[in-house]
Amino acid sequence: MKVTFPYMGTTVVYKKLLEMLGHDVILPPKPTRKTIDIGVKYSPEFACFPLKVIMGSYFEAIQKGAEVIVTSGGNGPCRAGFYERVHQRILESEGHDIDFIVFDSMFRDPQTFYRNIERLRDGTPWHKVLKSLLLIYDMIGKLDHLEKEVQRIRAYEKNRGETTRIWEAIQKDFDQAYTSHTMKSAFKKGKEKLQSIPVKHVDKEDCIKIGIVGEIYVVMEDSINMKMEQLLNSLGAEVERSQYLSQWVTYNMLPKWINWTHEKAVLKKGEPYIPILIGGHAKQSVGQIVDYGQRDFDGVVHLMPFGCLPELVSQSIVPKISEDYNIPVLTISLDEQTGIANNQTRVEAFLDLVRGKRKQRLNKEEKMVGKKPESYCTSG
Ligand code: SF4
Repeated sequence: MKVTFPYMGTTVVYKKLLEMLGHDVILPPKPTRKTIDIGVKYSPEFACFPLKVIMGSYFEAIQKGAEVIVTSGGNGPCRAGFYERVHQRILESEGHDIDFIVFDSMFRDPQTFYRNIERLRDGTPWHKVLKSLLLIYDMIGKLDHLEKEVQRIRAYEKNRGETTRIWEAIQKDFDQAYTSHTMKSAFKKGKEKLQSIPVKHVDKEDCIKIGIVGEIYVVMEDSINMKMEQLLNSLGAEVERSQYLSQWVTYNMLPKWINWTHEKAVLKKGEPYIPILIGGHAKQSVGQIVDYGQRDFDGVVHLMPFGCLPELVSQSIVPKISEDYNIPVLTISLDEQTGIANNQTRVEAFLDLVRGKRKQRLNKEEKMVGKKPESYCTSG
């Protein structure tokens, strides 16, 4: 089967899994202005932004020969559950008879989940499927581990752009790895490469940590969020995202009674502000801001797609959490009209505020303890 999927984050993972199941993978191009324009042209005007970008991405993959689209579904009061139907209808109306395989939680509808696996494995023996799944799960964890390092080190790199170049090379190395042994050596090599990056020495007052929260697609896909992680890093801030693929997979794989994942803990932290699930990742966003507040992060950037109802709700609660946990939050709405220069200026101004606040706090601590707090941050 000529298979494609929505482009989101470290696509090497989805590509490899489908390849290992014996498919001819049509890699969708990384979303660009052209992708967005195509998506906007064919999508309903008031659809949420990710639907439009993914729509454009599908058209581009179909042009490259894709016949089947593998994607995830959604449930609850959010449009994600309708994405596949809307996308399929639009594609049909443009003359593309494309098949969809939609994965939802295996606990919600085990039969459909099993049927989807059956379709996807397409005769591949079960032991091979299991081996591939375990290998990919291991790969996701390793890549996330390295990406977290990237998001920290890049804030202090001496040579602008070096960490990003190395991170891209690391992903290529993983793309070539098909066994647990080669995966292990790609990980080891990646770690060594990252540790060898020359970094600046930064005083504790000047090193800040920013969390990024919001709807999963705009948080994970940098081509549509103004490369937010790189932008924050280039302004000297360490970054952590609210979503990593390994966390998402683990949370969705485990039954409730043994689900002690980070995601579960974050949902609990969001409970006092949003007691019920309102769709998307609104409750996680809120819980994650609480988590960052408790872990002494200096600020949070909240990303929301224009037209996203769950994130609109979380946005309305953000000022209260920001006050309760004394943590500044900057909300940025993203869509096809987003002005990059304007938002970059907002981010720069936000970081100035965050730095000022941090200095004040450290001065206060110094006065109380009578000595300078630990002198340096993680830049070493
Ligand atoms: S979470 Fe928001 S952006 Fe994502 S599908 Fe739901 S409504 Fe759309």
